[in-house]
Amino acid sequence: MTKITELIKKMTLEEKAALCTGANPWATTPVEHLDVPELTMADGPHGVRRVADLNDMHAKSIPATCFPTASCLASTWDVNLIHAMGIALAEECIALKVDVILGPGTNMKRTPLCGRNFEYFSEDPYLAGQMAASYINGVQGKGVGTSLKHFATNNQETQRFSISSAMDERTLREIYLPAFETAVKKAKPWTVMCAYNKLNGTFCSEHHKLLVDILKDEWGFEGFVVSDWGAVHDRVAALKGGVDLEMPGPRERRVRAVVEAVRSGVLSESVLDESVRRIFGIVFKAAETSKGGSFDAAAHHALARRIAAEGMVLLKNNGILPLKAQKQIAVIGRAAKKAYYQGIGSSHINPTQLDIPLDELQKLAGDARLIFTEGYPADESFKQELIDEAVENARSAEVALLYISLPDSKESEGYDRPDLDLTPQQVALIKAVCTAQPNTVVMLNNGAPVVMREWIDGPAAVIEAWMMGQAGGGAIADLLYGKVNPCGRLAETYPIKLIDTPAYINFPGGNGEVRYGEGIFIGYRYYDAKEVPVQFPFGYGLSYTTFAYQNPKVSAASFRDVDGLTVSVEVSNTGKLAGKEVVQVYVHDHKSGLVRPPKELKGFAKVELKPGETKTVSVPLDFRAFAYYHPAYKEWITEDGEFDILIGASCADIRCVQTVSMQSTQELPSLLTHESTLRNWMEDTQGKSVLDPIFQKITAQIHAMAGDGEGGAEGMDPIGFLMDMPLTDLFTFLDSDQTTSPEDMVNGLLAQVSQNK
Ligand code: BGC
Repeated sequence: MTKITELIKKMTLEEKAALCTGANPWATTPVEHLDVPELTMADGPHGVRRVADLNDMHAKSIPATCFPTASCLASTWDVNLIHAMGIALAEECIALKVDVILGPGTNMKRTPLCGRNFEYFSEDPYLAGQMAASYINGVQGKGVGTSLKHFATNNQETQRFSISSAMDERTLREIYLPAFETAVKKAKPWTVMCAYNKLNGTFCSEHHKLLVDILKDEWGFEGFVVSDWGAVHDRVAALKGGVDLEMPGPRERRVRAVVEAVRSGVLSESVLDESVRRIFGIVFKAAETSKGGSFDAAAHHALARRIAAEGMVLLKNNGILPLKAQKQIAVIGRAAKKAYYQGIGSSHINPTQLDIPLDELQKLAGDARLIFTEGYPADESFKQELIDEAVENARSAEVALLYISLPDSKESEGYDRPDLDLTPQQVALIKAVCTAQPNTVVMLNNGAPVVMREWIDGPAAVIEAWMMGQAGGGAIADLLYGKVNPCGRLAETYPIKLIDTPAYINFPGGNGEVRYGEGIFIGYRYYDAKEVPVQFPFGYGLSYTTFAYQNPKVSAASFRDVDGLTVSVEVSNTGKLAGKEVVQVYVHDHKSGLVRPPKELKGFAKVELKPGETKTVSVPLDFRAFAYYHPAYKEWITEDGEFDILIGASCADIRCVQTVSMQSTQELPSLLTHESTLRNWMEDTQGKSVLDPIFQKITAQIHAMAGDGEGGAEGMDPIGFLMDMPLTDLFTFLDSDQTTSPEDMVNGLLAQVSQNK
């Protein structure tokens, strides 16, 4: 008998129930007579928010490094860097006596309006999954746990405690689950946090299919599921649904409810035991890492600066950047003095130090004169005098640096953004300064896209600097002066206008439900399919150097799904500065049984190149790179056929294409039924072989019946007309043989199909 099983045997029902609800807002309940310690959790994801008093839900936290938020992390496309950040987070957790950090958040960015997008990685499930897995592996490699959140379909803040995300099975499986699936399978998070919202009418905290059937049974998740703070409505239903630990505590009522449910037979004690077993597994694992001590705040600050610099995206540059040795520089915008570096809500970190962008700029600008003007107020009011002052400043300088951040209140947990706009003052300011000074560079601080069409033509250069973390001010200076060559690439599409976005019509829903009407077409999958022009595409970002792609190769032109293949390409730095390129591999299916997006990201690699240097980049593609989820088979399937492997610098900048042919090794059952149409039969391999012998007869009969086209049939393609008719109806229509009924004929054919399997 294992140690845990023995302990469970020694516990009273009350103790088991108590263990499954927190002792306070941040820790589990210890079982003292059995020497089971408490387990302490603290918010992440981009820093450790540890309050000194665990009984206090909202106190100011102990200083910790505020790293850039997830939008910036994902834009690095650098799994090693995110892994390094994970290690640093773990070191801080150890020092601050935290067993599990509540992150990463890997929900999909369904709409850029989601108030919490700054905490999430991407609109693409593959990229988000890789980032989440690296984060988790980094943290957990040091013996500290993570909590992968918010599982699942928590893609908006509007009515987040009750809204039901309504979507079909394929959309769930292909878009909203894979980032979690990758992270669970590749990195084994110690805990997973269930979401507040409902999924198709059932609270995620009671969703047996989601938490037990999929997460625990199908994906093999071995840790415990913790509720989001306050997500449990009915403790007994949540235990049955798969929530092992309810947070926050204490909740005496809940404990009593569980005890009563077991006593009255409503809840099987084995369900409770299973949750206890899962919680104990992690409590004991956490106890193996002794806590306390200190962390290297200076080193972590330097790491935060590096990550910020590598995640910032150069969106536009006419050659003004990197800055040369300009002597008089106008620095405009409040954000140059008041860094905008994180969002509002549970992820808010008390930083160990904070870089002021203007000060950091001065350090790299040497003896250049920096003249600061505020440019815009903190709120959304309009102050023309600030614009006039900024214009004067810009006019008399050689270059104007415009630091633009969204007002603090715009991006927050708990509510969504009403629009994607900068403030009217900021737009007017950018336009006026650009008119006065053509050498204007705009730096943007925001956690999610803003629209730019009104002003994007004005500036000489634009940098997306995100919610950049505590060291972001220095990172901006690094980019401006070319100490770091920009190498961030967008992990989400920048639309031209809000109404272009895929979820526009269905967001934020109403009557308790938000319908995911765009289905699998989110982000670039949608813009690609509809050919909707965008401001900046997914994967996009400039560098101070240039890269050439040549010699694309695939390991096999023809391959089996289970073998996958490897794609490689030579990338050369054709410019004068060292730099990093993100090679992106997308897959396009020529023909599929169900509609698929024009292309989907299935691999990427970031490569560093000196000027003139060439490296070969290889990216493996596995079964899942070619598969899609089929709701009728209820599994990921592959279909024989041709695929294009698209290698590019963004989803809109494909540099090389390789066409390959894949053979599926799956033996899928036939989906033919009494309702299947002539087309279904002819497209089904087994169906076709059974129907073929009589197909000629059928078509001849149809042609004969269509005759000379009288009766409204002139010009009609009679076969086309009947292709979508169920075979039973077609036989009824053609019925000349009175001896066998159409139903029996179809039954006979279906029997042949199942015999031939
Ligand atoms: C948030 C979680 C967070 C938790 C604890 C919730 O409101 O949704 O992301 O980890 O609070 O602060």
